[in-house]
Amino acid sequence: MSTRETELLARVPAGLYIDGAWQQGGGEPIDVTDPATGVVLKQIANADAADGIRALDAAVAAADSWAATAPRVRAEILRRAFDLLQERRDDFALLMTMEMGKPLAEANGEVTYGGEFLRWFSEEAVRISGRYGLNPEGTGSMVVSQRPVGPCLLITPWNFPLAMATRKIAPALAAGCTVVVKPAELTPLTTLFFVQLLEDAGVPAGVVNVITTSDSSTVAAPIIADPRLRKLSFTGSTAVGRKLIVQAAQGVLRTSMELGGNAPFVVFEDADLDKAVEGAMLAKFRNIGQACTAANRFIVHESVAGEFARRVADRVTALKMGRGTESGVTIGPLVNEAAVAGTDALVKDALAHGATLLTGGVRPAGPGSFYEPTVLTGVTPGSAILSEEIFGPVVGIVTFTDEAEAVRLANSTEYGLVSYVFTQDLARGQRMIAQLDTGMMGLNTGLVSNAAAPFGGVKQSGLGREGGLEGIHEYLSTKYTLIPVS
Ligand code: NAD
Repeated sequence: MSTRETELLARVPAGLYIDGAWQQGGGEPIDVTDPATGVVLKQIANADAADGIRALDAAVAAADSWAATAPRVRAEILRRAFDLLQERRDDFALLMTMEMGKPLAEANGEVTYGGEFLRWFSEEAVRISGRYGLNPEGTGSMVVSQRPVGPCLLITPWNFPLAMATRKIAPALAAGCTVVVKPAELTPLTTLFFVQLLEDAGVPAGVVNVITTSDSSTVAAPIIADPRLRKLSFTGSTAVGRKLIVQAAQGVLRTSMELGGNAPFVVFEDADLDKAVEGAMLAKFRNIGQACTAANRFIVHESVAGEFARRVADRVTALKMGRGTESGVTIGPLVNEAAVAGTDALVKDALAHGATLLTGGVRPAGPGSFYEPTVLTGVTPGSAILSEEIFGPVVGIVTFTDEAEAVRLANSTEYGLVSYVFTQDLARGQRMIAQLDTGMMGLNTGLVSNAAAPFGGVKQSGLGREGGLEGIHEYLSTKYTLIPVS
């Protein structure tokens, strides 16, 4: 570890952040490790169930005063947080690379993306509007207004440690809600560092509370069961999301569920192949393939599949694998050994089902949890790689012969987060917008995320939207009042 890294880690808080104070946790400390080296970076506090309830107590105690804080004041605090994040950009990027493994350039990209939610929702905080009008009978005024939903539990995954936090915290605070944040155990340092930034930006005590824990279900369940909680926002796997929806049903909680994906990446015979290859590299290898929006199934017209596969394989062999802090590295490690084993098993299963390996398919010797970027062609129906979320740097290509088959293959999944389509035919593009069952679509691009856009899925990819004009409404409830005309 470099001196700069050691010095940065020393500045990252290690406690639970409850009611504006750093506190010990009831459990044994958690080791946070660097997936590129296996070295322990830092030990942090481990919350138990009682700590979780104390965090909720703090969020509940602060709820009324934060809801009553002027929207302009809430907006300016978020804007200050955005500015501070720009000042501290290099620290955040380095910290994310250290705990999660993504290359430094991508971590920098996440600081930009994650920061935009602070800026966007600082702008939205002062634009929460309602309606006023005469009822159809002419006997009364109908007033529709928006109120904060109340205390929220925000649960985030490890793959985008900053952006998944800001995408929830910023709209919640803008709407006037207080929150308890539970980051992923594998990458909690970024959230702890970020809450320190929020304190510096002027977020009052109790408005944002952070609990880190090695026992998420034991700590989260009593919070979700507590009638004072009014909203659960979760980003993570569909399997865990389903369990949380069941728990949330007891209290009839508002929920937002940003769950798994299995994105089809469709390349038609009329596609600009340069753009399609560029899009594939972005949609597949960003974040080492560990993104809910990662292209999972490459569905390519049979007439261009060979050329497409060769060109992607050429680009893949030029990727440089290593610790994300090293110059020129474009592929970091996977988040842990379990992720490597899972990726390897999917590749082996595809090969056993008859796929052809163009490049990769190798687990390098340690240290670190690396997997070589891989390209498979001729993936056959029944291969697990077509139905499961890969979450690793593996391209699996299947072919189709006509548009109807492409649509059928693309939609043959329980997921529906995002799709990518490459065609130069505008009419075909419009048909794909209408026919693909996904919450988002990239038409001739491999990247759709933007703070100003509604992010989210259909089917088992989730409920609700984050970002865009829609994002703040996840944290607002609508109130209608009738005032009779006297
Ligand atoms: P995960 O579901 O294992 O964990 C997500 C979070 O939930 C973590 O903080 C974890 O500690 C917590 N958790 C796990 N079990 C819990 C329980 N029983 N009760 C309460 N909390 C619990 O997911 P992950 O491995 O961290 O993240 C990868 C998954 O997230 C992938 O499926 C990916 O597609 C999805 N994801 C979705 C989006 C999106 O916006 N749709 C974005 C990023 C990641």
